[in-house]
Amino acid sequence: MEQELEQLRDEALASLETVSDDAQLESFRVNYLGRNGQISAIMKQLGTVSKEDRPRLGQRANSIKKELEEAYSSRKTSLLPASQTAATDNPDLSLPGRKHQKGKLHPVTQIMEEVCGIFESMGFSIAEGPEIELDYYNFEALNIPAHHPARDMHDTFYISDNTLLRTHTSPMQARVMENQQPPLRVIAPGKVYRCDSDITHTPMFHQVEGLLVDQKVSFADLKGVLTVFTRKIFGKDLPLRFRPSFFPFTEPSAEVDIACVICNGEGCRVCKKTGWLEILGSGMIDPEVFKMVGYDPEIYSGFAFGLGVERIAMLKYGIDDIRLYYENDLRFLSQF
Ligand SMILES: [Zn+2]
Repeated sequence: MEQELEQLRDEALASLETVSDDAQLESFRVNYLGRNGQISAIMKQLGTVSKEDRPRLGQRANSIKKELEEAYSSRKTSLLPASQTAATDNPDLSLPGRKHQKGKLHPVTQIMEEVCGIFESMGFSIAEGPEIELDYYNFEALNIPAHHPARDMHDTFYISDNTLLRTHTSPMQARVMENQQPPLRVIAPGKVYRCDSDITHTPMFHQVEGLLVDQKVSFADLKGVLTVFTRKIFGKDLPLRFRPSFFPFTEPSAEVDIACVICNGEGCRVCKKTGWLEILGSGMIDPEVFKMVGYDPEIYSGFAFGLGVERIAMLKYGIDDIRLYYENDLRFLSQF
């Protein structure tokens, strides 16, 4: 049997040398290494040899099997490039092509561009400002002095005593007004940061700030601009509701609700049975803010508003968890 084993080994290695394609390689594997191959056949006979010889022969059979397996896999690798070249030399043109997936803009980017486009069509220009902001612009210039209770609502990430990650896009109001004279119509889109995270809050999110200053601007102008905006962004003639509110930098202030886009105002889980959804904050610019940038509040008036881009996208697409935007799951993102 020993002789038989060695003979089988030599024969197998010799036949592997002559293998020139995948089919021959496969028949080599079946013939020598397969479950019913020649190596297995010899191993099955081990039971018939004497007890003294059995361990030695068993070991030898195993080592030959291992040697052949290694020779087989290295032959397989060496055949690979050849078979690949064959495929490129002679491609099958009737095979269907592979589809390349097109990249898409992130849903938040899409809504951001749509929001900006709507305001640009109403004559607003776009301004951008720093995400690392001075305490002065984020709070002081917006009529929120140190120790003002409104600061508590902002969950601010401080960088130092007087620098922070901006908690809203409103600092742009002061920055724009410092550098330009009325009349002005500006929107400021961008990232803002708050130390907050749950199904409706992420530590970073996007806002669009709007600002319009001129002579004789009234609350009716504010209502007009925001009505046009909500109708355009949601694509239908939704009822709008202005609810009195408070912001330190506007007076009077109002939060704007739209009739629930899910239930059309009848009351559902999303609108908590009220039939209304809050979509933005707004108001007439406080005369104190004008004084800080050197505008005369006796001559000029204006309004400001701020909206959350993720929130608009959630309502528009019926998404109930804001964190989905930032998990980068392509199954989610490719739907938009
Ligand atoms: Zn509803």
